[in-house]
Amino acid sequence: MACVTTNRYPEASASGLIAYKIKMMGFSPGKQTMPTLLTAANLTKRYDDATVVDGVSLTLHRGETLGLVGESGSGKSTVARLILRLIEPTSGTVLLHNPDGTTLDILALPHRELCRLRRRIAIVFQDPYAALNPRLSVEQILREPFAIHHERPAEGIPARLLSLLDEVGLPSTALNRYPHEFSGGQRQRVNIARALALRPELLVLDEPVSALDVSVAAQVINLLRDLQQRHGLTSLFISHSMPLVRYLCQRIVVMNRGRIVETGTWDEVCTTPREPYTQQLVAATPELPTA
Ligand code: ADP
Ligand code: MG
Repeated sequence: MACVTTNRYPEASASGLIAYKIKMMGFSPGKQTMPTLLTAANLTKRYDDATVVDGVSLTLHRGETLGLVGESGSGKSTVARLILRLIEPTSGTVLLHNPDGTTLDILALPHRELCRLRRRIAIVFQDPYAALNPRLSVEQILREPFAIHHERPAEGIPARLLSLLDEVGLPSTALNRYPHEFSGGQRQRVNIARALALRPELLVLDEPVSALDVSVAAQVINLLRDLQQRHGLTSLFISHSMPLVRYLCQRIVVMNRGRIVETGTWDEVCTTPREPYTQQLVAATPELPTA
């Protein structure tokens, strides 16, 4: 169904174009009910007098892509950092559910055990330029996670690196090249390859295409969709773009000023947006061609 009509914001328009290109690539997100992978409950982060994340609770299922949407400053990146324990919460819990039914209490993990978590949850940040050490070749960049975690894949590191490059659509010749030799989209592919190196159970994508131009962004979204479908990748996709989230995510969580104001499928959120803030977001989503 078409949710929207107006297109008041240039940003929404660019996102709409990306979504359109993706649509032309033949995607349509499906619904899945899978076991729970992660639950966050009542997450709160306060800095001095400002509560930037305020009682956030969310659930991620294995194999799903959950969209975390909201305007700049609404607390999305802070939620991501809390889930990865890159920052400490003021209060709340985050549980990672193991396949055997037990749980790992992320916020209770002693610091020395955080490396266990880093293997299971990986993150890709918005800026593909800042995230890569310019002095390291792609091979050195992709070898790092194996060295840090003393991990040796069954097939051997060289073969694993080649399959990682293949997964993200980069040629094997990329191994000997340096970040400055790549475009923004290619650098983001290197970042995604590095994040996937240890086969994490959850990939957090914090506005991974916001710094890329429209057609490059569409290709990276295409890649993420492909990883989702071929590898059953579970991800938390953070974005301020409703059209992108619509194409990539099975469910959506909308944040505003540190709080979750809406949760559901695209249709649920879009058809009956309960909050004026979501109504505004939805209204800013361009209508897409349906051909
Ligand atoms: P988003 O990712 O949705 O743009 P953020 O999570 O980055 O939002 O930030 C949410 C709010 O928290 C913003 O108002 C930001 O200024 C504030 N904030 C983030 N980090 C800090 C910090 N280290 N100290 C104080 N305020 C912060
Ligand atoms: Mg952010």
